[in-house]
Amino acid sequence: MSINKGVLLIDPIPLPQNLAHLPPSLSRLWELAHNLWWSWNPDTRALFETLDRTLWKLTSHNPVKLLRQLSPERAVSASTDPAFLRDYESVLLTFDTYMTTVDTWFVRQHPEMTENLIAYFSAEFGLHQSLPIYSGGLGILSGDHCKEASDLGIPLVGVGFLYPQGYFHQHISSDGWQHAWSVPFIAADAPIRPALLPNGERLTIQVHLDGRTIHVAVWQVHVGRVALYLMDTDVEANAPWDRELSARLYGGDQEMRILQEIILGIGGVRVLRALGLQPTVWHANEGHATFLTLERLRECRHAGLPFDQAVEAVKASTVFTTHTPVPAGHDAFPFHLMEKYFTPFCELLQISREDFLRLGCSPGTVDTAFNMTVLGLQMSGYRNGVSRRHGEVARRMWGYVWPDVPEEQVPITSITNGIHVPTWIAPEMRQLYAKYLGPDWVARHDDHALWERIADIPDQELWNTHLALKRKLLGYINEEARLRWIQGKMDPAQILASGTLLDPEALTIGFARRFATYKRATLLFRDLERLKRLMHDPWRPVQIIFAGKAHPADEHGKYFIHQVYSLAKDHGFGGHIAFVEEYDLHTAKYLIHGVDVWLNTPRPPQEACGTSGQKAALNGVPHLSILDGWWVEGYTGANGWAIGRPEFDPDPNAQDAADAEALYRILEQEVVPLYYNRDRDGVPRGWLNMMRETIRSIVPRFCTRRMMRDYTDLLYAKAIAQSLRSAGRPS
Ligand SMILES: *Cc1c(COP(=O)(O)O)cnc(C)c1O
Repeated sequence: MSINKGVLLIDPIPLPQNLAHLPPSLSRLWELAHNLWWSWNPDTRALFETLDRTLWKLTSHNPVKLLRQLSPERAVSASTDPAFLRDYESVLLTFDTYMTTVDTWFVRQHPEMTENLIAYFSAEFGLHQSLPIYSGGLGILSGDHCKEASDLGIPLVGVGFLYPQGYFHQHISSDGWQHAWSVPFIAADAPIRPALLPNGERLTIQVHLDGRTIHVAVWQVHVGRVALYLMDTDVEANAPWDRELSARLYGGDQEMRILQEIILGIGGVRVLRALGLQPTVWHANEGHATFLTLERLRECRHAGLPFDQAVEAVKASTVFTTHTPVPAGHDAFPFHLMEKYFTPFCELLQISREDFLRLGCSPGTVDTAFNMTVLGLQMSGYRNGVSRRHGEVARRMWGYVWPDVPEEQVPITSITNGIHVPTWIAPEMRQLYAKYLGPDWVARHDDHALWERIADIPDQELWNTHLALKRKLLGYINEEARLRWIQGKMDPAQILASGTLLDPEALTIGFARRFATYKRATLLFRDLERLKRLMHDPWRPVQIIFAGKAHPADEHGKYFIHQVYSLAKDHGFGGHIAFVEEYDLHTAKYLIHGVDVWLNTPRPPQEACGTSGQKAALNGVPHLSILDGWWVEGYTGANGWAIGRPEFDPDPNAQDAADAEALYRILEQEVVPLYYNRDRDGVPRGWLNMMRETIRSIVPRFCTRRMMRDYTDLLYAKAIAQSLRSAGRPS
């Protein structure tokens, strides 16, 4: 892999032996399947789907698996089908053009910076369900970050982990408790391949820990023009317990965590060095990755820089993003663990134990642990939170790291998260926008003026498209339930909860996200009688679909699921509450595309940003949310509803009571009447206006296109400019 004018040149992928059934004329299907670009290009998706519709469904849209299982007869018939070949050639042309164009936003905007590289480190990447190395919002954001970097031509390389057993699947037992199980990860079915050195050998690196050596194998993933390197400790040379180090995402105890983070940060730098890459900017996405600053400090010391200058050099080239105000989301390792693993490292840095520990502790306080976020804040020159509100919260929360600086001047800025539009748009909506906004709308989706044309979409057409997506969602829910039933994984009492009795005509609310307690999934249940009245109104029924996983070690989160599930099974609610199992990227799309309203009820100010509401809004689904995270800046008064006041109430019970009251009131007096106010033709005109306003006001502002331009212009380009200046200066 190399870099040329902002284009990462990625090596071609040979066809493996066991795919001999694929005729040579179709061999580039294998290459397409190994570049996740296909997942946000509708023509490529359609190409794979037409190869074998059943396999497409059975593999949950995994083209690598589909090609491996494709029958030789079908492969041959496709290779002689002129219509298929025409589509195939057309897709290849689009792909090759996409991969090689030098006329990108980045090249136009920053022509002097095209030889620079940005390294992006994250513990999780949510790119596609066929690569299960994410758990929730953070991962989806990292995935969208890479996809958009590719679209804009930003020269970025990602570093993370392959978690061979990392993904837990969710099953809810008939008594309503979440059970976690994992299916073995089959590397051959995933869009990954071993990363190779220029001499053709498999790339592995070593990390030395507490007297032993850990060997790390490296895999490569193509995300359009972005290369992503995933580390994996499951190699023969390692002791059995070390092979397990990267087995699971956020598994194990603190010792497991520190080892994983050492490998991510320190091993990750070594992976890039082994590949001969010299990034100008190093972006630690969340505290998990901030050990990368220590490895770079070591490199600078090794090159002979005095300690203070080494720190300055690392800071000048490091970007750090913090993602949550929830205290448990910040790793802090006890000093004894730090000493266990970093004593030899400390010697390489040639600094005292105290000076070393100070890197992860704030000055003037008596911290008792080494905090990964504090390390990130102190060792980076560019720091940000992920929404305007979160920026304020982070400046307050971390102000103690800068004891002499007034809160509003604490050097943490904010860049509000967004979503990757081509990934999250429903195909039906994409076509509708193409018809009324222009066939090039995807390329121009961050242009506010473009979205004024949303007014041109006729009511009936917008409504019919939405209803089609709603039917698709209910169809998906039924199919999943049927499958579970056939497999004997569901008992009769669970039918009610599974969503098979949902009413396609009823106002349908969606609530899907991780079951972290601050998200308050049960807020809607504070007054069950009032909720029942609302749901059971025979003229204006309301139903709600829940989905989401709790971390297997989070007993509170599991208890929340239990509460939701109990009500979903309760005949008193008559199938108006559903719980859809196994919330992942795949299920998320159906929900986001197909519900009528998207609900979010976090306890402020703990929702750093939240992105699922942005995905729903892209598809015309209005947002009903507490004023927290992105909604503080997204809500205009006409594009959804804001629950309660943004102020934080120190008494959580009082806050819950007030917020629940506000939520019921908005549902009863605003959401339900607007939805059911129909014309003679059955079309809800007022509702459609709100759908249009949702799309118009939200899409161009809360997309990763805007977000990545901000990251580039406000952070990356500044760091690159500084490094170019210091390189030009005689030393
Ligand atoms: C978008 C998304 C999330 C994050 O949603 P939030 O609203 O930020 O909680 C989590 N999981 C999946 C599968 C998603 O698609």
